[in-house]
Amino acid sequence: MKTLLLLPGDGIGPEVVAEARRVLDRLALSGLAVTEAPFGGAAIDAAGTPLPDATRAAALAANAVLMGAVGGPKWAGAPYGSRPEAGLLSLRAAMGVYANLRPVRCYPALAGASTLRPEVVAGLDILFVRELVGGIYFGEPRGIATLPSGEREGVNTQRYTEGEIRRVAAHAFALARSRRGLVASVDKANVMESGLLWRETVSALHAASFADVELVHLYADNAAMQLVRNPRQFDVILTDNLFGDLLSDLAAELSGSIGLLPSAALGAAGRPGLFEPIHGSAPDIAGQGIANPLAAILSLAMALRHSLAAPQAALRVEAAVEAAIAGGARTRDLGGTLTTREMGDAVLDALGDAC
Ligand code: NAD
Repeated sequence: MKTLLLLPGDGIGPEVVAEARRVLDRLALSGLAVTEAPFGGAAIDAAGTPLPDATRAAALAANAVLMGAVGGPKWAGAPYGSRPEAGLLSLRAAMGVYANLRPVRCYPALAGASTLRPEVVAGLDILFVRELVGGIYFGEPRGIATLPSGEREGVNTQRYTEGEIRRVAAHAFALARSRRGLVASVDKANVMESGLLWRETVSALHAASFADVELVHLYADNAAMQLVRNPRQFDVILTDNLFGDLLSDLAAELSGSIGLLPSAALGAAGRPGLFEPIHGSAPDIAGQGIANPLAAILSLAMALRHSLAAPQAALRVEAAVEAAIAGGARTRDLGGTLTTREMGDAVLDALGDAC
């Protein structure tokens, strides 16, 4: 028996996870138990903490965790450590999910939905592999201190060990082998020592174990420019926590909407994976039933593939999403009028056809 833990979270999180749940129910997989737990702002309200002990334990005991999103204006004034987003960082760290996979595809039928010209983005298929539990979001020292002069100083620290770099790079190289076989490693080796170590370590691993994969190195500023100029040159983009956060959001726009993009966070073999849309809780549209649920549904597909040993079911879900889009299903973010539920219906219809 495998277990999938749902963490709907805040804002549009519960709305989009509900649609993923309907897809899962339609698949009717045998040997899969589904549970749910409070997380994020919802857990702060219920239990005073964004990551209650019981939720943490359930996540560590599951095979896969499917999260919606956390955060919102209600909790934005709290100290960083007790905000919903802190619960997410703690969960990622507790699960040891260091490799964040963010596929960015531009479906042919949506090439016109991007702000870039259709001929630049049509057919684009990039996989970001972002380091997720190290770097500047976790490095110590950090904080805001008052200097002797009375002026305040904010400090964050970028820090990576060779082991941290090697394990995420190995994921990127291995995944490239099942794709076009090209890894672009992104850093700021020209101005940051941590970037220089990143580059040297990736190159050494490449030479030792993955010489069959093509490797290029780019500075992060150039990578941002290249992503807009000619995004189809990329296959796998390997980068650190901060640059991966920024560049994958930039790339989201290439696909037409952030509401389309799933993610997986993976750790060592056999450990549970954490799957989530890359979008946040979208407080501006929460509660209106108009959020695009496809990122959550595609995150479910990634969970089926990477942590629940159901690759065929994953392919079926992805094919159903593509068929729904090709058939003209569009939520508001894609220029259409469908509600969240109606988009879920379109996927279920396509899934039914695929059975
Ligand atoms: P956001 O991703 O929530 O929203 C950005 C824009 O995209 C908004 O206009 C929103 O309406 C739109 N959007 C996002 N998802 C959509 C969907 N599925 N369908 C249609 N439109 C969608 O980012 P934000 O506004 O910067 O952050 C809002 C809150 O979410 C903040 O509290 C932030 O900290 C949190 N956040 C959480 C996560 C997470 O849970 N992993 C990620 C990013 C942001």
